[in-house]
Amino acid sequence: MYAKLFQHSSVAGLYIHIPFCKSRCSYCDFHSGVQLALLDRFVDALRAELTSRVSYLKNETLETIYFGGGTPSLLSTEHLSAIFESIQSHWDISNCKEITLEANPDDLSEEKLEKLSELPINRLSIGIQSFNNNELKILRRRHTAQQAVDVVKRAQKYFSNISIDLMYGLPEQTISSWQNTISEALALNIQHVSAYHLTYEEGTLLERKRREGHVSPVLEEESIAMYHLLQNALHEKGIEQYEISNFAIPGFYSRHNSSYWKGINYLGIGPSAHSFDGESRQWNIANTLQHITGIEQGTPRFEKEVLSETDKYNELIMISLRTTDGISLERVEQEFGTNAKKELLKQSVRFIKSGIMLLEENHLRLSSEGLFLSDGIITDLMQEQ
Ligand code: SF4
Repeated sequence: MYAKLFQHSSVAGLYIHIPFCKSRCSYCDFHSGVQLALLDRFVDALRAELTSRVSYLKNETLETIYFGGGTPSLLSTEHLSAIFESIQSHWDISNCKEITLEANPDDLSEEKLEKLSELPINRLSIGIQSFNNNELKILRRRHTAQQAVDVVKRAQKYFSNISIDLMYGLPEQTISSWQNTISEALALNIQHVSAYHLTYEEGTLLERKRREGHVSPVLEEESIAMYHLLQNALHEKGIEQYEISNFAIPGFYSRHNSSYWKGINYLGIGPSAHSFDGESRQWNIANTLQHITGIEQGTPRFEKEVLSETDKYNELIMISLRTTDGISLERVEQEFGTNAKKELLKQSVRFIKSGIMLLEENHLRLSSEGLFLSDGIITDLMQEQ
């Protein structure tokens, strides 16, 4: 009998992907496009898809809903109301503890915020990325640093749970400009910060510019210094790191993202959205028009992968090591056997000796230096197929 990837969960999450943006940022490889004429048709298809996928979550209680993208704040409040009407016709959301909408600063007028606050949404995740105008220009963001500050202050009148996204390791970014971005963020007294190092993704404008020599990646030692600056500055303000890229004041860890790391089942709706039911993963086609057409014709286009024992083990290693809780050795033993636990400990010895991994309270976790190097360590600890 196969081990379950994680213990059976009675709660689940719902992810809704909104694949539209007003324009494309230079670093972004998320599935989104600027074909806004498709919006009405997309929302109808989304509602039909919700109805057709209800049974995926079986009897689990919906605990979190996350509107990601793309730019979910592009949707009108009428569109969002229609989507909530569909959700509520299938699920009781009165036990939903967290309903997040990703938003861009240029969408959040006073009027829009007021209307959003009348919907079941109780958390905003605002894509700010930087409080430096030159960096915002390089990233092709559609707001200035001052607009970002104003928007967060405005949003705080309507929402008491706000996260902002920041980026470091940017071309032309200096330690001092990153320090300034962090200070500006902290001055806003937000509850949650997600901070990501820039990666030059294939097919993006920035990657092309890097290839052509128009922009230069920061040096690795600068990246490490920026990461530690972030960790220390947030720690001093009582903002806890709970994952490689995520920080929050106590009580405000993102429940939705944490549920991915805990292996809780989730249903993903919209093009490119992933779903997970403990035994398999499936993902919708990353093409908005083909996705809509498939739903309209009753032939949704997706791929599915049933997870092998090795896949489940590797996923546990990968997602647990990203969190500051780390991997529970008890869980590895329970779900994959004593030999798997012994082998994991054996492989981890060199990382523990060098101080980038810690063995505490029957958990293996990355030290604060190790968190920055997580990708390489995780790969080394995975089992071969
Ligand atoms: S970063 Fe966000 S706003 Fe920019 S193109 Fe990507 S999804 Fe759209």
